[in-house]
Amino acid sequence: MTYRKLKADNIFDGYKLIENTVLIVSKDGIIEDLVDAENAGDGTEIFSGILCPGFINCHCHLELSHMKELIPEKTGLVDFVFKVVTERHHSEEEILQAIENAESEMLNNGIISIGDICNNALTIAQKQKQRVRYYNFIEASGWLPSVSKIRFERSKNLLQEFSKLHTPSSIVPHAPYSVSQNLWNEIQPYFENRIVTIHNQETAFEDEFFLKGGGDLTRMYEMMQIDNTHHQPTGRSSLRSYFNKLDKAKKAILVHNTFMKQEDVDYVKLKTHPDSYRDKLKTYFCLCVNANKYIEDALPPIEMFRKNKCAIVLGTDSLASNWSLNILDEIKTIRKSFPLIPLEEMLQWATINGARAFDVDDQLGSFEIGKMPGVVIINEHDLSARRLI
Ligand SMILES: [Zn+2]
Repeated sequence: MTYRKLKADNIFDGYKLIENTVLIVSKDGIIEDLVDAENAGDGTEIFSGILCPGFINCHCHLELSHMKELIPEKTGLVDFVFKVVTERHHSEEEILQAIENAESEMLNNGIISIGDICNNALTIAQKQKQRVRYYNFIEASGWLPSVSKIRFERSKNLLQEFSKLHTPSSIVPHAPYSVSQNLWNEIQPYFENRIVTIHNQETAFEDEFFLKGGGDLTRMYEMMQIDNTHHQPTGRSSLRSYFNKLDKAKKAILVHNTFMKQEDVDYVKLKTHPDSYRDKLKTYFCLCVNANKYIEDALPPIEMFRKNKCAIVLGTDSLASNWSLNILDEIKTIRKSFPLIPLEEMLQWATINGARAFDVDDQLGSFEIGKMPGVVIINEHDLSARRLI
């Protein structure tokens, strides 16, 4: 037999849950058909649970995998960032091993594609094995205007190294509070027609920093002994202070959005366009709830995003700020605080929405004929997953 026939209690096809249907997949993992159970003939493999396309993890830092359980929980973003940038005692061997283990963990949990933040080249060796489809986001940061040239050159060189992998890559800003105007000027031309991502409004202090100056981010620069006197508060929220700078990008993935307000969502809507305008910037809202719990002990305003019909996607962030790299663990956490959100909708966030965010919805994210989205079986009771294809 050159194909497999798969049936479970339900099939989630990327959009909705369907019953009494058999999924037919070629031995290479290409979706051949979805047929009525009664017309499927013999040889159907039966599973209990939900058959689902592979998950898209829209935000990860694979290179930080060695930091698992290293940083104390619930200390707030400033102390977290300080610990990440000053933690340097691991050998390269340990880091590479942790990268490999983390990728295996994600594969086992049903993740088939990852948007990965890159500050160095340490993940390249693992990515060469092509077990997972990556979108590499080369992260530029530097708050001192005087370091913008050096930082930009570093990002450009890294972009070149990653381009040898023949996987899509782009240069992206780390966060509104860590990229000087000089550095924005350098990286903005690189956004043209690319997918850009940024850590957005992850802490309550981010808005304060742009509205009035001061707050915890000022403390962070004091701790790091980085001169902050050039900072001019804009009198606007963080998002409204930078969002225009993403104009040239094809898609923007805003990550965290823990402290985003309705007026910021209104602003994004004003500046972006619905999916039908494919040539204009389209914005995705990436939730990394377990990282928010870990770092800030906070949750983003998910109901507000739903009410505004925002395109939501999911990410795990890194093992520096999460207990696992598992999209279903993210869904479990959302379910605890928002029990009324249908599982079907959250699975859309985890599959087709992520595929759209990375422009791979012609291949991944749903069970449609000709796609190769991977097949996962979800246990409905404990929300665990096992990869079938
Ligand atoms: Zn992150």
